[in-house]
Amino acid sequence: MNRISTKYIFVTGGVTSSLGKGIIAASLGKLLISRGYKVTIQKLDPYINIDPGTMNPYEHGECYVTYDGAETDLDLGHYERFLANKTSQANNVTTGSIYQTVIDKERKGDYLGKTVQIIPHITDEIKRRIKILGDTGEFDFVITEIGGTVGDIESLPYIEAVRQIKWEMQSSAIYIHLTLIPYLSAAGELKTKPTQHSVKTLLESGIQPDILVCRTEHPLTENIRQKIALFCNVEKEAVIESMDAKSIYEVPLLMQKENLDKVILKKLNIKDTADVQLDKWNNFLFKLNNPKKEVNVGLVGKYIKLKDSYKSICEAFIHSGTEKDCKVNIKWIHAEELGDENVNESLKGLNGVLVAPGFGDRGIEGKINAIRYVRENNIPFFGICLGMQCAVIEFARNVLKMPEANSKEMNPNTDQPVIDIMEDQKNVSNKGGTMRLGEYNCTLEKNSYSFAAYKNINIQERHRHRYEFNNKYFDLYNSSGMHCVGKNPENNLVEIIEIPNHPWFVGVQFHPEYSSNVLNPHPLFNSFIEACIINKK
Ligand code: GLN
Repeated sequence: MNRISTKYIFVTGGVTSSLGKGIIAASLGKLLISRGYKVTIQKLDPYINIDPGTMNPYEHGECYVTYDGAETDLDLGHYERFLANKTSQANNVTTGSIYQTVIDKERKGDYLGKTVQIIPHITDEIKRRIKILGDTGEFDFVITEIGGTVGDIESLPYIEAVRQIKWEMQSSAIYIHLTLIPYLSAAGELKTKPTQHSVKTLLESGIQPDILVCRTEHPLTENIRQKIALFCNVEKEAVIESMDAKSIYEVPLLMQKENLDKVILKKLNIKDTADVQLDKWNNFLFKLNNPKKEVNVGLVGKYIKLKDSYKSICEAFIHSGTEKDCKVNIKWIHAEELGDENVNESLKGLNGVLVAPGFGDRGIEGKINAIRYVRENNIPFFGICLGMQCAVIEFARNVLKMPEANSKEMNPNTDQPVIDIMEDQKNVSNKGGTMRLGEYNCTLEKNSYSFAAYKNINIQERHRHRYEFNNKYFDLYNSSGMHCVGKNPENNLVEIIEIPNHPWFVGVQFHPEYSSNVLNPHPLFNSFIEACIINKK
């Protein structure tokens, strides 16, 4: 396919938040990739945190980590899961990081005595960040999702920046605006007024949307489409219906049915003859909708009141379950409510248990109780990061008879620190962006569940932690039934522990969930689901 010069697609949202801009951006990206184009998606977040790494998951949902160690918005997870492309530091921009760059430059004297202002200095920095991805020359399309809702004070500099970019690039840039068409049951009607107002707000900032994607619970009639087109000043074919879908993975097909990709190519003057290759995606959807079996898996965590806190884990279950023709029912188990007295009752009948990542000591004893139960009852266990560390502590306390065993994170004065702070973390006091982050190498022992899953000795996985297995206890664990089967070849850090004398007991210091995607479900999740299926039999 002939390469085209990079095109920029800006996605804004109106009327209300949570309309699913991220899924629409990812679905559009998927359709363009399926036509053979090279696509990346970027998220601009209008908050003042430098990144979401310091935010409580209840504020923001999961913090997603890129291979190059950026702590980012969870929408980047959607982009990777849909596009099967890695995102990077450059794919998530926050107001905090924009201001930080501008203020650092000001302190260095780079502005040569000028007054530093939102326009042009902040907007110029936003424009530079948007163009970084296009300037690599790697992409035909850069899709930029602007967080928040138009009309928000915080969003204004972003809206102004993308207005300027379009003015500079003319036909190489395009605006998609996502809105809500509410249904008033009393009137029995879909209402277009909020959308009209939202477009008006955009127009006040000098932006005329080219395409409207309309979230709706009821199909848009011809009449409604005509009305939206006329009053919002867009072509009728550019009014795209976005009905609520059973699964987020159906949305690319819904967008294709509405010709979103074709309308975009036409508006960007791209003559496109390529077919959309969605065979594998369709195959995935067929399997997703026609499972042959099901398993019940417990997810033990302390942020379970907001399911988005464990977004990537839930999606990884969907990918691997589908791969194995199996529906994975998740039972959400609050770690803080899991005591000695109710652990049997809470976990009874589960075919597998995943103990989630986390920070701090709240809920940790519940996690340890859960692990004891699954270890003693031969139920498949998957521990991720803190989940793995809890498995190490549980084994020490109940098998190695070390009653004081703990992580130094939970008890800095413990005499039996089976999980210790990493050497290079000891003098770190700043909280933001200072963990061990991103992809590192790991070498696997051949005789392990993990090797059987990966079928490869050398793997790379993403990390986000400050504490590690204490290698002082390495020999004790290995000779007592918990094996360290994956290690970082450069510094010997223990990456994977397993109990070979158990149907499936694997704890990983890294985060496999970040790199599972629709077309490449993660090998460890595949293997865990297989073990759950066997457990059910
Ligand atoms: N709190 C633990 C650490 O920092 C685990 C982190 C995690 O689960 N991501 O090492």
